[in-house]
Amino acid sequence: KEELNIIQGALELRTKTVEDVLTPLSDCYMLSSDAVLDFCTMSDVMQSGFTRIPVYENDRSNIVDILFVKDLAFVDPDDCTPLKTITQFYKHPMHCVFSDTKLDVMLEEFKRGNCTSPCKSHLAVVQRVNSEGEGDPFYEVMGIVTLEDVIEEIIKSEIVDE
Ligand code: ADP
Repeated sequence: KEELNIIQGALELRTKTVEDVLTPLSDCYMLSSDAVLDFCTMSDVMQSGFTRIPVYENDRSNIVDILFVKDLAFVDPDDCTPLKTITQFYKHPMHCVFSDTKLDVMLEEFKRGNCTSPCKSHLAVVQRVNSEGEGDPFYEVMGIVTLEDVIEEIIKSEIVDE
C-alpha cells in the first residue's frame, strides 16, 4: 500500500505545481533586513527551528536575502551586530521560481543545485505574475518552497522535523 502511494506521488510530480505545496508568505518565519542580532532576536531565530530564514526589506513580500542559521555561528549577541553585516558577508544567492513550475522540474533543480556557486540551497522563493487589476502586471511573491515540500508530495506524508 505504501509503495503504491509513493508511485502515485511520483507520477503526480508531473502535474502538480510548486503552488500546490508552497509555504505561504503569511506562514513564513522571516526577519526584517534592519533587524539587530541581539540576544532577543537570536534566541527567537533559534526557537523558530528553521535552517533558512528569508530576509525582507520594508515589506514582507520584498525578500532580499536568505539567512542561514549556521551564519550565526560566530556572532556574539552582546555585539548587537546588524543583520545586514551578516547577509552582506555571506551573500547567499537567492533562487526564485514561478508558481506554475511543475514539481518534477523543481525536484531536478533542487538536485542540481540552483546555480553554479557551491552554496546551493534547497529553498526557493515562489513568485507569480499578477496581472489582475488596472495597473501593469507585476511579480508577486507567494511564499517559499523547499526540497522537503516536494519529497512530502512524493511520499504523501508529513516529514516530522528533527
Ligand atoms: P528546515 O530545515 O528549516 O526545517 P525544511 O527544508 O526541512 O526546513 O522544510 C520544512 C518545512 O518548513 C517545509 O514545509 C518548508 O516550506 C517550511 N519552511 C522552511 N523554512 C521556513 C521558514 N523560514 N518559515 C516558515 N516555513 C519554513
